[in-house]
Amino acid sequence: MTMNAVGRPTRPEGSIETTGFKSLTGARALLQDEPLIFELGGWDKTGVDLDEAGHDASDLSGLTRGNVPLPGLSEPETMRHFVRLSQKNHAIDLALYPLGSCTMKHNPRLNEKAARMAGFADLHPLQPVSTTQGALELMDRLAHWLKTLTAMPAVAMTPKAGAHGELCGLLCIRAAHEAAGQAARRTVLVPTSAHGTNPATAAFVGYSVQEIAQTPDGRVDLADLEAKLGPHVAAIMVTNPNTCGLFERDILEISRLTHAAGAYFYCDGANFNAIVGRVRPGDLGVDAMHINLHKTFSTPHGGGGPGAGPVVLSAALAPFAPAPWVVHGPDGLHLVEEPAAEAVQAFGRMSAFQGQMGMFVRAYAYMRSHGADGLRQVAEDAVLNANYIKARLSGEMSAAFPDGPCMHEALFDDAWLDGTGVTTLDFAKAMIDEGFHPMTMYFPLVVHGAMLIEPTETESKRELDRFCDALLALAAAAKAGDTQRFTGAPHLAPLRRLDETLAARKPRLAWRPEPISVAPTPLAAE
Ligand SMILES: *Cc1c(COP(=O)(O)O)cnc(C)c1O
Repeated sequence: MTMNAVGRPTRPEGSIETTGFKSLTGARALLQDEPLIFELGGWDKTGVDLDEAGHDASDLSGLTRGNVPLPGLSEPETMRHFVRLSQKNHAIDLALYPLGSCTMKHNPRLNEKAARMAGFADLHPLQPVSTTQGALELMDRLAHWLKTLTAMPAVAMTPKAGAHGELCGLLCIRAAHEAAGQAARRTVLVPTSAHGTNPATAAFVGYSVQEIAQTPDGRVDLADLEAKLGPHVAAIMVTNPNTCGLFERDILEISRLTHAAGAYFYCDGANFNAIVGRVRPGDLGVDAMHINLHKTFSTPHGGGGPGAGPVVLSAALAPFAPAPWVVHGPDGLHLVEEPAAEAVQAFGRMSAFQGQMGMFVRAYAYMRSHGADGLRQVAEDAVLNANYIKARLSGEMSAAFPDGPCMHEALFDDAWLDGTGVTTLDFAKAMIDEGFHPMTMYFPLVVHGAMLIEPTETESKRELDRFCDALLALAAAAKAGDTQRFTGAPHLAPLRRLDETLAARKPRLAWRPEPISVAPTPLAAE
């Protein structure tokens, strides 16, 4: 029997594995099995009292809708359903969430408080601008700080995610080339380690994609870049710090070579968290870079909310920025919706309205509450935390690039698992049993069995130690031949190994009702 410090028994003998214990209901203590809400509530029941509609109230004659099979539950049943579901998944508010490249950091509640203010939360995008001056001012100030932090003269605020920002940036680049009679430039160069969205975006815009090789120390191969640049190249897309968690040491040379070849330098800014307040991409010769507000500036993502991917632009690309944008007039702030009159070169627009207002408010609150010194410390602590993990784990696990420090994420390969019968996937699944979300697996593609760990700056040393202790214990178990722990993992999660390929290829997105006595309107087909 395990006792705590005051002698109180904490835990029975034997684990689930050793006792083979199974509950009778399928529940795992406080975690209950949870059906779909449609299976829970009959559609003939409701949790609210509605007045009986008068028969003369409808002019719809034969067009009246029949019974709509919405689940009917009482208020407590509804609450419990969603609270139970929320307990089945991992969340940044539960524990460290080490998904590399995703920057899963704490979202300060102050941001939420600001975003919920009625003057922001209850706006309608078509309201007259005379009634939305405060919101426009916030967008204008956020734009100002994004330009200041990046040393770039312009920013397009409307893209709604990093990938959407990439699209915006490449559309600016295409428009700039077309305006300069350079439409024959049809190729975009992308390093092998790039995030999948980079080549996908280039292809979406109609470019062909060519890979740039990587050096053994995980950086862009300058000789290969130089060999592939030419009059057919429209742009390069380089992530910095790159997806191996390394700063591109030759970034100035990369930008010089690119510009000398008449191409533009698109920087994937998803990793801005590592350098914010320390390095300004404009000083590196970047022409366009998206900023994932939901990563660097801490707005909920990963199932927690929408993203926002404003794109900062160099002077050369600024004239092609999409509408709308905010301008100062004598009687307040205005939105330029029809740029034809003002700047005929704008390539169009990325979004029906002004962008993700709630994310703008959160990002702005985050910036203002940190200040210039706080934002610099974000980058410093993010890098420090990643290096702490790299140093603590390197004894048992093999760092992909062992020489020198990393930036904000620590990258391991699977060489250390050789001969154990355990794969990267097995190891990641075993982390779930230990109460941690897995790290990013098998990305970047240039590293075999990659495990990319990004702790972010919001983790304390105690939490980092808890995480490292768990991984070191797992690593020791793998090397000691405790294979079952891994190949069968997760043992303790409500759902175990799911067929992720099937789920991705053939998602079942609609629930089909069982035949019921009064035929309801059929739901949308799967
Ligand atoms: C997250 C990420 C993206 C894509 O951003 P989304 O907001 O998810 O569209 C692109 N590149 C890198 C390196 C990223 O980490």
